[in-house]
Amino acid sequence: MASTRCATPGCRRVVGPPAGGRGARRRFCKVCRPPRVRPDRAGPAPAVVEVVVTGSTQSEPSLVIHYRQALHEAGALGSPAGSQVMHLVGLLAYGSHTAAGAASLSREIRDVFAAATRGRGAPDAVDELRSRREAKAARS
Ligand SMILES: [Zn+2]
Repeated sequence: MASTRCATPGCRRVVGPPAGGRGARRRFCKVCRPPRVRPDRAGPAPAVVEVVVTGSTQSEPSLVIHYRQALHEAGALGSPAGSQVMHLVGLLAYGSHTAAGAASLSREIRDVFAAATRGRGAPDAVDELRSRREAKAARS
């Protein structure tokens, strides 16, 4: 088969054979139509999302500050579970994560935080939400 030119008008690049030698022959060159990224296949890792933490003027991300404060108030900062929370929070705040990675890390932090503060008199997220809702209902 003769070499094919890219189907984009004005583009004179030669379209190579399909990568891997299977599938339909490319109609466009790789410059005009970059190969599709398929995150569900093994291959290059998904793009890492750089998370910009806002709402903090200190050198520490607000996430770290707030978790440390919450653990301190619950008297759980020095406990093993409290240390684990701070470690995970540090990973989330300072690391680079995919959206999926950040989401699972967040869930893990919530779970460990709940375990660290359980029975220590600190309101957990659900209790806090409920009391906020009740306060709002009482006002109206
Ligand atoms: Zn082209």
